[in-house]
Amino acid sequence: MKLMSVNAGSSSLKFKLYNMPSEEVICVGIFERIGQSIGKFEIEYDGKEIERDVEFKDHSVAVSYLLDSLIDEGIVKSLEEITGVGHRVVHGGEKFSASIKIDDKVIAAIEEVSELAPLHNPANLVGIHAFSKALPHASQVAIFDTAFHQTMSPETYIYAVPYEWYQKYGVRKYGFHGTSHKYVSLKAAELEGKNPNDINVIVCHLGNGASICAVKGGKSINTTMGLTPLAGIPMGTRSGNIDPAIIEFITTKENKSVKEVTDLLNKKSGFLGVSGISSDNRDLEDAVAKGSVRAQLAMDIQDKKIADIVASYFVYMGGCDVLAFTAGLGENSDRMRASICNRLSALGVKVDLERNNIRRKTTLISADDSNIAVYLIPTDEEIMLARDTFELV
Ligand code: AMP
Repeated sequence: MKLMSVNAGSSSLKFKLYNMPSEEVICVGIFERIGQSIGKFEIEYDGKEIERDVEFKDHSVAVSYLLDSLIDEGIVKSLEEITGVGHRVVHGGEKFSASIKIDDKVIAAIEEVSELAPLHNPANLVGIHAFSKALPHASQVAIFDTAFHQTMSPETYIYAVPYEWYQKYGVRKYGFHGTSHKYVSLKAAELEGKNPNDINVIVCHLGNGASICAVKGGKSINTTMGLTPLAGIPMGTRSGNIDPAIIEFITTKENKSVKEVTDLLNKKSGFLGVSGISSDNRDLEDAVAKGSVRAQLAMDIQDKKIADIVASYFVYMGGCDVLAFTAGLGENSDRMRASICNRLSALGVKVDLERNNIRRKTTLISADDSNIAVYLIPTDEEIMLARDTFELV
């Protein structure tokens, strides 16, 4: 059975076509700059790579182009072969605690929670509409970034603010990156030869956006992102948690609106804000090599906050079997993994520097006498979309 996983952004669309249940990847690709005068289409299949500059007026045009290309390149003989499409949807609010087949009611519910993710959900919906139109015979499935965290308890997800904000507007912690946290925690259980119900895993998803998740017996019991992805640990350009009074203080000092300050917290903070150099870890590592104190400080702040969270989750979970690193930084930065592990030595975490000298490959990086097994586990959100779609189709 051929199934497509789709991640539609406001001007991009990533796709991967799988043969299921073997999980063989048939092709993978991306559209960029949809809606701009020159867009980009890239597809890889059968050892070949195609890259084209083409104008895509909107997502529907891009999806038609993709489906025509699948036929033209002989990747599929007929579009009828594609029996399902799994769509990443960022916010499912409290309405969705699992993936679901899309119908009009589901679309209405996704629209309803769009105010909680105004940049993401509308773009995800555009992708859903485009594929529903182009592949009317195929089942469309929604997989939510928030769903995995719906197992958190009220003491974890309710903020200590007027309770009416939760009742009236749904203000609570939702958490994101759920698909990644689920994939990595399942993989950790598999690597340890344990049933997911019998293992406690802390997953550090550290990319440009970053969050940590405590997965106890296969369920998310806490995570760092909140109502929005701005909360939690400092990231490439996001501040993570700060004293909320800073917002009013800066609006007054700099004569800015709350929206403008929130924008600065989203786009000009984190690595970029502290270093004044870049949001990208590689640039910071280069700057540190040239003696930049602020680049070092930006990295130290993030490493410290991550270690603080891991330590508190360790206590909250009643101990932890596996600490797992994933996403851009987690998979590539041996510096960062070592720095975090060293800060956790009081918990008996010991990294093996030789094992840690590795990139993007599933690897045990802890020493044999470490109290907690530490792994690098490359994430694979697309396969989770395909698996859930397969189950529902
Ligand atoms: P993501 O958002 O998951 O793509 O992660 C982006 C982050 O990963 C950026 O801060 C990159 O600098 C970092 N990253 C990617 N590749 C490397 C690498 N080879 N070494 C160090 N950091 C990396």
